[in-house]
Amino acid sequence: MQQVYDKYNRIIDYMRISVTDRCNLRCIYCMPSEGIRHVHFKNVLTYEEIIRIVKIAARLGVRKIRLTGGEPLFRRDLHILIESMNKIPGIEDIGITTNGLLLKKYAQVLAKSGLKRVNVSLDSLQTNRYREITRGGDVRQVFEGIHAAEKAGLLPIKINMIPIRGINDDEIEDFAMLTKYSSYHVRFIEFMPIAPHKLWAANKYVPAQEIRERAASIAPIMPVSIRRLGPARYYRYENAPGVLGFISPISHHFCSSCNRLRMTCDGRLRPCLFSETEVDVKSAIRSGIADSEIESLLKHSVEIKPRSHSLSSETDFDHLKPMARIGG
Ligand code: SAM
Ligand code: SF4
Repeated sequence: MQQVYDKYNRIIDYMRISVTDRCNLRCIYCMPSEGIRHVHFKNVLTYEEIIRIVKIAARLGVRKIRLTGGEPLFRRDLHILIESMNKIPGIEDIGITTNGLLLKKYAQVLAKSGLKRVNVSLDSLQTNRYREITRGGDVRQVFEGIHAAEKAGLLPIKINMIPIRGINDDEIEDFAMLTKYSSYHVRFIEFMPIAPHKLWAANKYVPAQEIRERAASIAPIMPVSIRRLGPARYYRYENAPGVLGFISPISHHFCSSCNRLRMTCDGRLRPCLFSETEVDVKSAIRSGIADSEIESLLKHSVEIKPRSHSLSSETDFDHLKPMARIGG
C-alpha cells in the first residue's frame, strides 16, 4: 500500500474537504452577521470532480476523509458523495464536521451511505446563549440531531466546543460533566484568530491548559490513549463513559504530527490551515488535465507543506480566509 511522506517525514493520509462555503448559521466567531461573499456556484467542485481527486489521493495513500464547510449538510445530496467515496479502494474512514441542525433529517441516510462518524460543533447548552452565539440556532435541534446520529450508529459522537472568555467559558464545567454521564467525546478547541470578525481579542482566548484545569476542578482526570490520536489530548474522569479532549492549535502546536491536506470548496489544495498558500486543482481539472497531472499537483501540495505554523494569540489574522471557506 502506497504512503506519501512530506519533507519532514510526516505521513499524509488524511484529507479535509470543504463541500460548500454556505451555512445555515452565522456563528459570531466564524462569520460576520451578513455572511461572507460566497464562491460562485459554478466554481464549487462538483461531486464528480471531488471523487476524481479523492481516487487519486487514495492511490497516493490518503485513507481518511472529513467533509466540512460551511455546513456540509447544507449541500444537497451529500449522501451520494459519501456513497461514491466509500467505494474508493483505500478510503477507510469518512467523517463530517457539522453544526448538527440537519442531522436529525439525514443521520440515517448518511450512515447507510457509508459515513462512519460525526463531529458536532456546539458552543453552549443554554437555549438563549446558543441562539446568540449562532445568531439564530435552536440548541434542541442540535440535540435531536445528536440523538439521531447515535441511533444511526455514528459513534463515538464527538462534540467540539470553543470556549471564549466572557461569552461561554463559564460552561466549560457543564460540557465536561457531559462525559460523566454519556459516552460523548467532548473536545475543547482553542479559539483561533481566524476569519474577518470583530470578535477576536487576545483576552477572549482561553488556553487549553486553563480549560483542562477547570475540567479537572470537578474531579480528577486521567490521560487515556486513543488509537488514532490526532491533534487532541484525551482524558477521562474515573469510571466515566465519555472522554474529554483538549485541542491547542495556539498554545501547543501539533504541527509535527500533522497528517492532513485540506481542499477548499472551490478546489484549492491547502497544505496548512494557517497559510494562504494554495494549489488550484479545479482550474487544472477544468482545463482537461490527465490523472497523472492531478497526482503531481497533490504531490506538490504535500511537498510544500510547511514544517509548522506561527499562529499565536498575538497574530495578525486579517489575511486569513474565513474558516467557512477553507473548511475548519
Ligand atoms: N459548519 C460546520 C460546523 O460548525 O461544525 C463545519 C464547518 S466549521 C468552519 C468547522 C469548525 O471550525 C467548527 O467546529 C467551528 O467551531 C470551528 N471554528 C470556526 N471558527 C473558529 C475559530 N475562530 N476558532 C476556532 N474554531 C473555529
Ligand atoms: Fe456555520 Fe460552522 Fe461557521 Fe458556525 S462554525 S457559522 S455552523 S460554518
